[in-house]
Amino acid sequence: MDDAVARLQALSTQMSLERGEEHCFVTGKDYTFSSKANAPTTELYPDKTGGCGSQDIFVHPAVLPNGQRIKLLKTLLSSACERDCYYCPFRAGRDTRRATFQPEEFARLFVMLAQKGIAEGMFLSSGMIGGGVRTQDKLLDTADILRNKLGFHGYLHLKIMPGAERAQVERAMHLADRVSVNLEAPNTARLAKLAPHKEFIEELLQPLKWVDEIRRTQPGHRGWNGHWPSSVTQFVAGGACESDLELLTATDYLYRHLGLRRAYFSSFNPIPNTPLENQPPTPPIREHRLYQASFLLRDYGFNLEELPFEADGRLPVQSDPKQAWAHVNLAERPVEVNRAERHELLRVPGIGLKGAEAILRARRQAKLRDLSALRALGILVGRAAPFLLLDGKRAAYQPMLF
Ligand code: SF4
Repeated sequence: MDDAVARLQALSTQMSLERGEEHCFVTGKDYTFSSKANAPTTELYPDKTGGCGSQDIFVHPAVLPNGQRIKLLKTLLSSACERDCYYCPFRAGRDTRRATFQPEEFARLFVMLAQKGIAEGMFLSSGMIGGGVRTQDKLLDTADILRNKLGFHGYLHLKIMPGAERAQVERAMHLADRVSVNLEAPNTARLAKLAPHKEFIEELLQPLKWVDEIRRTQPGHRGWNGHWPSSVTQFVAGGACESDLELLTATDYLYRHLGLRRAYFSSFNPIPNTPLENQPPTPPIREHRLYQASFLLRDYGFNLEELPFEADGRLPVQSDPKQAWAHVNLAERPVEVNRAERHELLRVPGIGLKGAEAILRARRQAKLRDLSALRALGILVGRAAPFLLLDGKRAAYQPMLF
């Protein structure tokens, strides 16, 4: 057991590079980013589990699609890999400690962790050995043992390997709550700068298309727990000198045409002893702006053309994209809180999805005449006031000094 825990530690420590259910989320107030609250934690052996060695296993606080918060083990089945992606700590030939589990061994270890309350769900990926199809089979075998032999009913996010076959994608959808394919870059040309041996269309985009097609054409009760899993992807932001416009063009396509639940952006950070080790890291504020813009596309009714891109395709880092749009479009044409439609309210900074619903409900009872009424509904009035009319009058807002 000591050896298994040591291998799991070796596999899980680098997984903070993989965004997942954790890291950032939307609150009801307006799109809101949080990373500190979701930093990985370690569970220490033997204190909490009774004598398995003294290793740390990284378990991440995660927010599930239904809002539930759980302890999520993010790990690989194997950190051995035959590919050589330029940004990756597990790339072939890099001098790093490798570890591998067999499906049954790993499934039993995870169930032991779940029984001890260390982990409640899992995000499982793998380095590639013997091609994408063979590697996918190992992931599927692990999931199958967990579900059908060991009776694990908790949250499972399964990675789809580059080059996986359609039947494998479908099998994953019968076993997992969520599936993902990391596109890494927004298009073929940019992917060549990050991962020269991955095929953007055939190996990465195609499995996401199959997920969408299966969800649309087959009854949902065939999926795990009676629903088809959600699908997500991740981009390495800044790794291939791509623009925000390129990343968000791809994101917009995935939301509109492939039913993607979420695009994750992972700021590029150079890894020693990789071809990109001298490339500067991407500032976290860029990742933050990309999330904000992607939520505008997904939840707030914005079109790509409405986002405030600069001439070089970057979003301004100094201001929130919704705020920047409102300054141009709403400063002289404020929104009347008592008459605006939901989609108009959602354009106002400081009014989020829940806030818009709360306004619609409240004004059925009585006119909203002052900012304190909006504040009581959860509206961020400091941000919203410059763009609002309350019963025909500009909202008078005095920022609180203390
Ligand atoms: S295939 Fe995956 S694990 Fe292997 S080098 Fe590329 S990103 Fe890393």
